[in-house]
Amino acid sequence: MTDLDPATLTARFASLGLQGIREVRLHRNRVVMLSVRAGILRLHAGYVHAPEPVLRAIVRFLAPYTRRAVRAAARREFLEFPVDRFTASRPRRPRPRRSAPGDAPLIARLTDAHARLNLIHFEGQLGAIPFRISGRMRRRLGEVSLHRETGTIEEMAFNRHHLRRDPWSEVEQTLLHEMVHQWQAENGLPVDHGVGFRRKAREVGIVPRARKPHRAEGAMRG
Ligand SMILES: [Zn+2]
Repeated sequence: MTDLDPATLTARFASLGLQGIREVRLHRNRVVMLSVRAGILRLHAGYVHAPEPVLRAIVRFLAPYTRRAVRAAARREFLEFPVDRFTASRPRRPRPRRSAPGDAPLIARLTDAHARLNLIHFEGQLGAIPFRISGRMRRRLGEVSLHRETGTIEEMAFNRHHLRRDPWSEVEQTLLHEMVHQWQAENGLPVDHGVGFRRKAREVGIVPRARKPHRAEGAMRG
């Protein structure tokens, strides 16, 4: 097996039929293995050691008209490749704003709901994601933060007051809203509230509006 540098990898993907990618960049972020934005495929560096079937699975995953079941199978296939055996992932930096220790049960509940809604609405295709509970969010009920370099989702933050005072069904609406953003990021789509967002939001059964009149404050989902 020959290791590939990014330029050779770009050419290799093109020869396997991958279209619309002008450049491959390598990263060592273990949370999301690959993302596409503006013609740039960002990929975990471990994939330079991947055999051809794994690269072909990535091409199938990224092809625009791949059927959903095929896409899901392709995603499983390239995620099974043990990138860390070849290239150590960068350890996650400690976050300056941590959740309080007492938040663990709420974070566990959000993590469970994420896994369940992922299976129901996203065919289990979304990656696991860290949650944070914030006491500083004022107007927003929830938000996603994007990694500066990779454009992938680093974490989901939830408004503490929202979690405390609102029914859990409302919290799950917020969670689904943020999961649609995660779905956008993981599929190389812009993370916004455009037509694609509204279509997917309706598909998963949430109100597609970004702003939702909420109590007196007019809180919104970010
Ligand atoms: Zn939003």
